[in-house]
Amino acid sequence: MTSYYKVVITNPGNPAYIPVNSTDDFYNQNEVINMNEQSSRYTSLDINTSLDLALYTSRNLETKKDGKKRYCQKCQRDKPDRAHHCSVCKTCILKMDHHCPWISNCVGFKNYKYFFLFVFYGSIYCIYIFSTIMSFLVALPTEKRNSITFDFQAFLILIISAVFGVCLMIFTAMHLGLILSNRTTIESMEGSGYIKFENLSSGETQVISLKKNNIYHLGSKRLNFNQVFGKEVKNWFNPFNGKQFGDGHNFEINEKVYNKLKETYEG
Ligand SMILES: [Zn+2]
Ligand SMILES: [Zn+2]
Repeated sequence: MTSYYKVVITNPGNPAYIPVNSTDDFYNQNEVINMNEQSSRYTSLDINTSLDLALYTSRNLETKKDGKKRYCQKCQRDKPDRAHHCSVCKTCILKMDHHCPWISNCVGFKNYKYFFLFVFYGSIYCIYIFSTIMSFLVALPTEKRNSITFDFQAFLILIISAVFGVCLMIFTAMHLGLILSNRTTIESMEGSGYIKFENLSSGETQVISLKKNNIYHLGSKRLNFNQVFGKEVKNWFNPFNGKQFGDGHNFEINEKVYNKLKETYEG
């Protein structure tokens, strides 16, 4: 019974390992093909989407801190909004969140939902193991508990599940906060996006940080949440459904916030 439960609970974590990497696909076909040759890590699903997305272009609303175009010197191409170069993966990653050594992959536009579910189910699994061993311990008669019959292995698992459980719960809470404000880890830490406005009368340009003015916050937590999990409640916790809003190059923005900024800075 326990192992059955374990299997059911553990499975949802696996999709986090699917390397649905966001290797920017809207560049030229040659590059996409190279990328596919580059490593066997990319699944057939990825190859198809790469070719489909080869047609996409980015509107590039974001600029660098100095107002210049965001360009990746290493990949020799423009960076779409919210994309960043990962030095470990050696490529630009769409809506990059962070590089995760635990899954030896980047967490970005296409696998963020899987990542979140993996962390979420992982924490539940740890809590389950911890409470199972704990309840077993508590149920033991006192004299047995004090003797060495409670083996070292169970004790070790108890400690490991406690440590991992706490870490994963903190991670889940952190990422839920980010999802609800439609931010990536990078954006929340560096506020790396900027937008440039040009005053129509004076011609003066002003570069505004998106950290203070989050144009991606769509006005409600629900709308922000939907960007990652979709609209259909039945798919929210389904690790086999990774359907995303948008193409990863262009993102819905809060028009109200954007227009207000535009009015303020463009005059
Ligand atoms: Zn790059
Ligand atoms: Zn990476």
